[in-house]
Amino acid sequence: MLRTEAVVDLAAIRANVATLRAGTAADVMAIVKADGYGHGLVQSARAALAGGATWLGTATIDEALALRAAGLTEPVLAWLWTPGEQAAVQRAVADGIDVSVSSGWQLDAVRAAATATGRTARVHLKIDTGLSRNGSYVTDWPELVAAAAKAQAAGEVQAYGVWSHFAYADQPGHPTIARQIAAFGDALEVAERAGVRPAVRHLANSAATLSLPQAHFDLVRPGIAVYGLSPMPGAGDGPLVPAMTLRAALASVKRVAAGEGVSYAHAYTTTRESTLALVPLGYADGVPRHASDVGPVSINGARFTVSGRVCMDQFVVDVGDHPVAPGDAALLFGPGRDGEPTAHDWAEAIGTIHYEIVTRVGARVPRVYVGEV
Ligand SMILES: *Cc1c(COP(=O)(O)O)cnc(C)c1O
Repeated sequence: MLRTEAVVDLAAIRANVATLRAGTAADVMAIVKADGYGHGLVQSARAALAGGATWLGTATIDEALALRAAGLTEPVLAWLWTPGEQAAVQRAVADGIDVSVSSGWQLDAVRAAATATGRTARVHLKIDTGLSRNGSYVTDWPELVAAAAKAQAAGEVQAYGVWSHFAYADQPGHPTIARQIAAFGDALEVAERAGVRPAVRHLANSAATLSLPQAHFDLVRPGIAVYGLSPMPGAGDGPLVPAMTLRAALASVKRVAAGEGVSYAHAYTTTRESTLALVPLGYADGVPRHASDVGPVSINGARFTVSGRVCMDQFVVDVGDHPVAPGDAALLFGPGRDGEPTAHDWAEAIGTIHYEIVTRVGARVPRVYVGEV
């Protein structure tokens, strides 16, 4: 094996999307932002399409352009962009990328891009139904849809989608869920009255795709579930298969005496004669420094924790008397099938979510793809 590797099982991504698709009458937009949640943008996108996704979703326009540059021609929506990105908006319109519009200045930017490229730009109008993140505030919505209808009549844009995003979809039954669905319905009515009849209405992230059929509308937008991680804390991964395994070859193994301070500031001290194994992954590779003394690691079939501080490039594991040799694999997380920790275990250990664990795996860690079609 390589010194370090994030093994990405494309067959798992494909199967996860097929599972999600089987559970809904809606079309599936696989979210591949943030380098496919760390799994690789283009590879993840191709695997998701093979599993039955017909749309791709990215946060930034640059991510969407990278999909086009790789030859992917499917519908792509990009939703997070700023006033300084006019050139990117123009490229997006030229490349047939759908862009999200949450406000008047964004509509104007897209109209300008349409004029400059001589193309009708496809937009998805975003309504803030209660997350208070991106999206038009409800009181600004009538003006936005009226302006969009006008731009549509002028042939500048096509208001192809209307969409929103949940605050609490991972807590089924939370009172904000019904309120957001109702607010979405109201926003659709306001749009309709202004003459905006979107081809696609979409609201559901992974959690809503798995637990809220009444929120599926025409299109669902699963992200984390595509990669096999359950959006519902504690609910397990169900039929989903975690796609990423993060592992490294041991770079050093040595027998040391009791009482040796280990790693920076000697946050850990051996209590008896013991074997120290060196794992060549550190916080520069996305192993959280907060995992010092608590991050779980599996080596040769046994579970240990990080011993002492996680450093920039490496950390130490006290494996006691367990037989280990340089080059043996240290598994940080994987599907959990062979008793190795999962990304969820890492998230629990350091007080975060598994989204962050997989997404932060650094660029220095090569992605190794298996299960290709
Ligand atoms: C990231 C994101 C998603 C996917 O969310 P998951 O919880 O990973 O399924 C969907 N829609 C929007 C707007 C997002 O930002």
